[in-house]
Amino acid sequence: MPTSFEYLLVGGGLQNSLIMLALLHRNPSVRLAIIEKDSRIGGNHTWSLHTTDIPPGAMEWFKPAISHEWPRYEVRFPNRRRMIEIGYASIFSADLHELITQRGTDAPGVELLLERGAIEVGAHHVTLDDGTRLEAPVVIDSSGPKDSIQGCGYQKFVGWEVELAEPMKSLTPIVMDSLVEQHDGFRFHYMLPYSPTRCLFEETYFSDGPTLDLPVIRRRIESYIHDNGYRMASLIREETGVLPMPWKLDLVTADEPGPLRAGYKGGWFHPATCYSLPVILRLSQLIANSYPTRPAGIEWEKFVKTHRSQSRFASLLNALLFRTFPPEARWHIFERFYGFPMDTIRRFYSLELTTGDKLRFLCGRPPRGFSLRQLWRQPVSAGKES
Ligand SMILES: Cc1cc2nc3c(=O)[nH]c(=O)nc-3n(C[C@H](O)[C@H](O)[C@H](O)COP(=O)(O)OP(=O)(O)OC[C@H]3O[C@@H](n4cnc5c(N)ncnc54)[C@H](O)[C@@H]3O)c2cc1C
Repeated sequence: MPTSFEYLLVGGGLQNSLIMLALLHRNPSVRLAIIEKDSRIGGNHTWSLHTTDIPPGAMEWFKPAISHEWPRYEVRFPNRRRMIEIGYASIFSADLHELITQRGTDAPGVELLLERGAIEVGAHHVTLDDGTRLEAPVVIDSSGPKDSIQGCGYQKFVGWEVELAEPMKSLTPIVMDSLVEQHDGFRFHYMLPYSPTRCLFEETYFSDGPTLDLPVIRRRIESYIHDNGYRMASLIREETGVLPMPWKLDLVTADEPGPLRAGYKGGWFHPATCYSLPVILRLSQLIANSYPTRPAGIEWEKFVKTHRSQSRFASLLNALLFRTFPPEARWHIFERFYGFPMDTIRRFYSLELTTGDKLRFLCGRPPRGFSLRQLWRQPVSAGKES
């Protein structure tokens, strides 16, 4: 183990993996440790993003983390079907684990401390669960989301990676197929074909409550596969997620004392899509550009301010979605959104909306179902099917 570190990265999830790749690109001899309480990097996830979310300069170090790419994707609503001409890409956590392990082995200054929990995280030190105290000028805490968030709806999903008995007709992803019966808020199906016979089928809900009714949702995935003319040969993997879509935010401030909070821990995610890749890629790039110190100064202040202002607007959209539309009418909002110009869709996902884009969201005739009276209604009880 190196005797001294420049960086201590708490949490071996997506954010710190990206920070490590960015720092290694900046300086292959960087001295850093990743501290992860589990035995693997990245958990059990499929993470996706629009390829236009990758900031300039990041492609070189980020490209090896991409497991699969598509040139476009489709969305389906009762009154709109559209091909979205924006590239889409996925990272598989199993591939990320391999990549980070390999880089950790190759790089002389990198130490992967797996199955080691951090029990105390300070601005310049971390205490591990066996009492070891590590020190470094920069400590980054990306230990994941807080247990509870006040004031939010939820994006929740169950995904099945499946081997199919026959090849699929199309290898174009469907990011929102809402031609399904609506239950428990806005329900849609998400489909990522990795090969003619390998596909991720994911049931997703934008709901008032966080409960996942696994037996019911699994049956719906089976029905979706069957109703779309596919036959399952085997189930490879299941993943689940319950992500808050907040309208109250806990975001990093530029002059915050203590360790640098990154990833979900610092509110570096898109409140209205729950994607964090666009913002954590930008943050990773900035951290690497600031090597060997922690980001600071005017550029950092501007970066934080921009994220806070974009996040506030996205959280207003969450409040409108969850508090002024009854659950069964929420799909109208997304159908309207996917009629927007391609550039607005792209900027929405990358959390880089212009004033004109924001006006487009708020002005004009509201989608069907909008009701201010909803504001005074009690939210639907947690997880209850509607
Ligand atoms: C199932 C799922 C799918 C998602 N899909 C997408 C997607 O498609 N696109 C997208 O952009 N975003 C997606 N997200 C949202 C977001 O990108 C992820 O939540 C992402 O993993 C956040 O990165 P992170 O590093 O902040 O947290 P995590 O990846 O959750 O990493 C936190 C890590 O810290 C570790 N840890 C926690 N406490 C300690 C401790 N005390 N000591 C040591 N280690 C600790 C945890 O074990 C974990 O490995 C998804 C989230 C989930 C749950």
